[in-house]
Amino acid sequence: MSEAIDLLAALGVDPTLLSSGPLAARSPIDGAELGRLCPTDAAAAIGRAAAAFPAWRDTPAPRRGELVRLLGEELRAVKGALGALVTLEAGKILQEGLGEVQEMIDICDFAVGLSRQLYGLTIATERPGHAMRETWHPLGPIGVITAFNFPVAVWSWNAALALVCGDPVVWKPSEKTPLTALATQAIFRRAAARFGAAPLGLMEVVIGGAEAGATLIDDARLPLVSATGSTRMGHAIAPRLAARFARALLELGGNNGMIVCPSADLDLAVNAILFSAVGTAGQRCTTLRRLFVHADVYDPLLARLRAAYGAVKVGDPRDPATLAGPLIDRPAYEAMQAALVAARAQGGRVHGGERLLAEAHPDAYYVRPALVEMPSQTAIVAAENFAPILFVMRHDNTATALSWHNAVPQGLASSIFTTDLREAELFLSAAGSDCGIVNVNLGPSGAEIGGAFGGEKATGGGRESGSDAWRAYMRRATNTVNYSPTLPLAQGIRFNVE
Ligand code: NAD
Repeated sequence: MSEAIDLLAALGVDPTLLSSGPLAARSPIDGAELGRLCPTDAAAAIGRAAAAFPAWRDTPAPRRGELVRLLGEELRAVKGALGALVTLEAGKILQEGLGEVQEMIDICDFAVGLSRQLYGLTIATERPGHAMRETWHPLGPIGVITAFNFPVAVWSWNAALALVCGDPVVWKPSEKTPLTALATQAIFRRAAARFGAAPLGLMEVVIGGAEAGATLIDDARLPLVSATGSTRMGHAIAPRLAARFARALLELGGNNGMIVCPSADLDLAVNAILFSAVGTAGQRCTTLRRLFVHADVYDPLLARLRAAYGAVKVGDPRDPATLAGPLIDRPAYEAMQAALVAARAQGGRVHGGERLLAEAHPDAYYVRPALVEMPSQTAIVAAENFAPILFVMRHDNTATALSWHNAVPQGLASSIFTTDLREAELFLSAAGSDCGIVNVNLGPSGAEIGGAFGGEKATGGGRESGSDAWRAYMRRATNTVNYSPTLPLAQGIRFNVE
C-alpha cells in the first residue's frame, strides 16, 4: 500500500482520488488493496471530450504533434515510476513494466513524425479542367477501452495517434488496473499544461467496469470505439456499435501458434518459446499457446523445454531474478486449473501448472507455467486460455501443421522456426498463416510499434499502432474541383435541357 502511495505521489496523482469509493484497486503480487476509487460519470466525460473537439480539430496537426512530443518527454521523466506501478498493479515483471512504458514513448515519437505526414492522394481525373484529391480530417472524440494486461501501452497506441489526428480521447481502462490509468492522466495533464493550449476534456479517464464501457459503446457522440479485450467482450459490443454505424477497432483474443520444422535452429527456438509462452505469466494477447513440433525434433526440443521451464523463477515480479509473476486474480487461476482438467480429460499429459507460494501469499495466484503434450488439437486447445499453458503437438509435415495452425477461431500472432526458405515463404504467403502477425524465426509476441498491430477472425480485424493504422482515426473526403469554364460530367453523361 505505501509503495503504491509513494509511486502515485512520484507520478503526480491527486491523492484525494484514492481515499474513498466503492471500487477497490488491488495488487496481484499479494492481493493487497492499493486504494479505493469512485466511478466516473462516463456520459459527462464524453460530453467534455465532445466539447473539446472543435478547438482540437482546428489546431494544425504539427501543433497537435507538439503536445504528443511533450507527452513523450513527460513519460521519459517518469519511466521508472510508471513501470514500477505497472508491475505493482498488473503483476508483470519490472523489465516488462519498463518495456511497456518504453512502448508508450516509442509510439509518441512515431506520432510526432506522423503529425506532419497525414497524407492524402492526388488522383487523376477523367474530366478536363478538374482536379481530384483525398483529404483526411479529424473524426471526433473517440472511445478507448483497454484490458488489464497492457494497462497503459494500448492506451498510448490509440491516444498518440488519435491526438495527432485531431481526436479527443475518452479512455475506459480495465477495472483491474485503474491506478496506472490515473497516473497516465496525471502525466498527460503535465504535458498539456506545458503545451498551454490543449482544450479541457482532450483526454478523459472513465473509472468503472463493463457498464462504464457500455456507455462509451452506445454514445452517438463517439464515432469510433477502439476496444481491446476478450472475444466475449467483442461479441457483446460489436453489434451495438454496428447498430449505430460507429466504427469499431477491435483487438480481441488470440490463440497464437508456432510451427517448429526439422531444420529449425533449436537454440533460438527454445529461447523464443520460453519468452513468448512464459513472459507476462502467459497473459499477453500474443502469448504462444500452441506449439506444433516436427516428429524429428520433438523429443530433444521437449526435453530442453522441460528443463527450461523447470528453471523459470516464479515469484515477486519486483525481484530481478523473477521471470514469471502472478496471475491477475483468483478467477484467472481457476480458469487455468479448469483448462488443465479439460486438457487431461482430452488426452493431455500435463507438466507443471500447479499453484506456488500459496502459504506466503494466500490472496495471490502464482503458478508453475504448464507444458501440456496433446495427442491432437482438441477443443480446449482451440480456446484461448489466458494463462501460462503451452499445448505441444507433434506433426509429420509442415502442410499438416499449417492446416492445424489455422484451424482455430482466433487469428492474432503466429510464427515458424525453419531454415528452409520454401517453408518460411509458404508460411508468409497467402496460403500460409491466416494471422495479422506472421513471424519467421522469432516468437509470436513482443511486437514493435512501427508495424500495424492486430489480427483476423475472432481477434476482431482491427489494426492499431504503426504503419497506416492512423487512418482509422480520421475521416476521408474525396474532393473534386472544377477549374474550367465548362461542366463535363463523369462517364461522359450528357444532361442538357436544349
Ligand atoms: P475483458 O474482455 O474482460 O475486459 C477488457 C475491457 O473491456 C475492460 O476494460 C472491461 O471493463 C471492458 N468490457 C468488458 N465487457 C464489456 C462490455 N460488455 N461493454 C463494454 N466494455 C466491456 O478482457 P481482460 O481480461 O481485461 O483482458 C484479457 C483479454 O484481452 C484476452 O482475451 C486478451 O487476448 C485480450 N487482449 C487482446 C489484445 C489485442 O491487441 N488483440 C491486447 C490485450 C489483451
